[in-house]
Amino acid sequence: MSFLEVLQAFPAVFIGVCLFLGLMVGSFLNVVIYRLPKMMESGWRQQCAELHGDEPVPSAPYNLVVPRSACPHCNHAIGALENIPVLSYLLLRGKCKGCGAAISPRYPIVEAISGILCAYAAWHFGYGLATVGALLLIWALLALTVIDFDTQLLPDDITLPLLWLGLLFNLFGVFTGLQSAVLGAMFGYLALWGVYWMFKLVTGKEGMGYGDFKLLAALGAWMGWQMLPLIIMLSSMVGAVVGITLIVAAKHGRSVPIPFGPYLAGGGLIALFWGQTLTQGYLQLLAAP
Ligand SMILES: [Zn+2]
Repeated sequence: MSFLEVLQAFPAVFIGVCLFLGLMVGSFLNVVIYRLPKMMESGWRQQCAELHGDEPVPSAPYNLVVPRSACPHCNHAIGALENIPVLSYLLLRGKCKGCGAAISPRYPIVEAISGILCAYAAWHFGYGLATVGALLLIWALLALTVIDFDTQLLPDDITLPLLWLGLLFNLFGVFTGLQSAVLGAMFGYLALWGVYWMFKLVTGKEGMGYGDFKLLAALGAWMGWQMLPLIIMLSSMVGAVVGITLIVAAKHGRSVPIPFGPYLAGGGLIALFWGQTLTQGYLQLLAAP
């Protein structure tokens, strides 16, 4: 029996492998979340320097692989044993081995969420291409969510490949037909683009960014145009609840921008798992006498 045959024959093994994969990739997502915005910023700086005709400042290589992860306080290099998802954080009791500085609980939380969502996707979709797609989508949405919370940015480096990847999966009809995927990408972009311009014309303010349009376009490419109303409705609902809570808790002023990306990502995930069920239930409700 080959490894793939084992995965196919034993759902519990398949779910376990996806859980493990989710934890490991979750650990890498922490690197992406921390470094990608810094890489973008230094790229912009380089471009500005070029525009001004300045000599580019040589800098040490900094990307998703180099340099190795280290404690931001004492530069203690993080060894393989200190890099086991979730477990290392618990064993180290949330403190750096070198200097004892507190490690943000956000690292194990991102790893745990990634692991749990991947295991759930494996259980929900079972052995096959749909789970492969769901895992990739989960990782992209998780990274986008935290980056948007941190920086109010949704990097093109994630949203645009995500859109193409959605179309690629649906070339084989994994989540929806190719037609509805292409229309989903178009209408997803146009829907928020329209809201953006209406909001801007009426209030003179910018309510959301272009990254939000691209993210909804990507979600449309993955799930088809039929899911767009549900995704927008779910994300607005979650966004309103969280926004009102924050305003009531007085941690946020009314005018402080609240990133919309995380709610789109959340709405997208709910639609991925329960979209069909939710829309069918809704239609049945409408059809009831
Ligand atoms: Zn340290």
